[in-house]
Amino acid sequence: MDCLNALDRQWHPECFICGYCNKPFGNNSFYLEDGLPYCEKDWNELFTTKCISCGFPIEAGDRWVEALNNNYHSQCFKCSVCQKNLEGQSFYAKGGKPFCKAHAR
Ligand SMILES: [Zn+2]
Ligand SMILES: [Zn+2]
Ligand SMILES: [Zn+2]
Repeated sequence: MDCLNALDRQWHPECFICGYCNKPFGNNSFYLEDGLPYCEKDWNELFTTKCISCGFPIEAGDRWVEALNNNYHSQCFKCSVCQKNLEGQSFYAKGGKPFCKAHAR
């Protein structure tokens, strides 16, 4: 019987599973959160902050903006009409999207 060593314990490969989707990792990498292992896909889904605009994770070191109860990369926070960057600018919210002053109405 194959055993694998992880987290200071021994596991049957089929028992060492993602804490979310319950799939075995096999040879894939995993991420730890609160002592539980997660597959990369679920970890990304569950524990990273994502930019509402482009859908990609906001990583440590990225500049980002918190607005309208969402998170944006700095470069993704822009007017929904003219794409002017609104970081640090006054902006107007309509339907959960940011607009510059000229396109607020
Ligand atoms: Zn998973
Ligand atoms: Zn983004
Ligand atoms: Zn605009």
